[in-house]
Amino acid sequence: MATFGTLSDRLTATFSALRTKGKLSPADVDGTVREIRKALLDADVALPVVKDFTAAVRERALGDEVNKALNPAQQVVQIVNDELIGILGGQQRRLQFAKNPPTVIMLAGLQGAGKTTLAGKLAQWLKADGHTPLLVACDLQRPNAVQQLQVVAEQAGVAVFAPEPGNGVGDPVRVAKDAVKHAATALHDVVIVDTAGRLGVDAELMKQAGDIRKAIDPDEVLFVIDAMIGQDAVATAKAFQEGVDFTGVVLSKLDGDARGGAALSVASVTGRPIMFASTGEGLGDFEPFYPDRMASRILD
Ligand code: GDP
Repeated sequence: MATFGTLSDRLTATFSALRTKGKLSPADVDGTVREIRKALLDADVALPVVKDFTAAVRERALGDEVNKALNPAQQVVQIVNDELIGILGGQQRRLQFAKNPPTVIMLAGLQGAGKTTLAGKLAQWLKADGHTPLLVACDLQRPNAVQQLQVVAEQAGVAVFAPEPGNGVGDPVRVAKDAVKHAATALHDVVIVDTAGRLGVDAELMKQAGDIRKAIDPDEVLFVIDAMIGQDAVATAKAFQEGVDFTGVVLSKLDGDARGGAALSVASVTGRPIMFASTGEGLGDFEPFYPDRMASRILD
């Protein structure tokens, strides 16, 4: 995965400089922590996250609870690994399914974040697991959005609920409500609602997403964020958390050459878990997100 390449190289170089040390002096620890801090900041990780991260690494590296069976370099790698898993959300968080179907999953995020593509990916993944998802077109703003959803639904081999052609400027709240009702009678056990995005955060977008959320009371609201947006990730995520409140995060475009800051900041600043990663344009380029596996990849 291209994302994290530079960060990964920088951290590895920092650790290998410790390899010849028999014991770490406080000065060694401080020097190492400084390098980690620089590497994280250069990867666009948000400053408060970097501060907490490096403080925790420093404290543990200087503390007594280090694992004596490991050499100093291995000890630092283990501490950094644990802390990375922590900022990435700890345990993997699975989708919550409703006790009484249909399970309703709403997607939110900026235009171009990858929501419509994700709708198809999620549908294909759920279908392979025996579910009967229904995709719902509630992005009624962008020309072609409904058609784009129809295309991904066809690729995934799942049904779409959309306003009638020619009636595309309909009310997305009503469409969402009607779709959930339709799913119950048509035996769709999961409803995935694609919503409109804007190029930047705006009040109208938030109100619409918030209104849809209220109307359909989803089991999951997934905030889709393009890993490439770097430094803007934190402000965008916070705006969506305030406006819509989401239950989980999907990182998209992790196959690109993003520096990784978005990925490493968003779970930590919102307190919401990263649940899935999107790694390409194809419907199969998608996987559940495991914080421990991601930490290992970064430190590989
Ligand atoms: P939406 O506006 O949020 O619905 O975003 P779209 O799903 O239309 O995606 C915007 C563009 O990003 C499209 O060209 C997608 O093919 C592309 N895209 C979506 N997810 C990924 C991903 O994980 N990796 C890459 N490389 N491209 C993606």
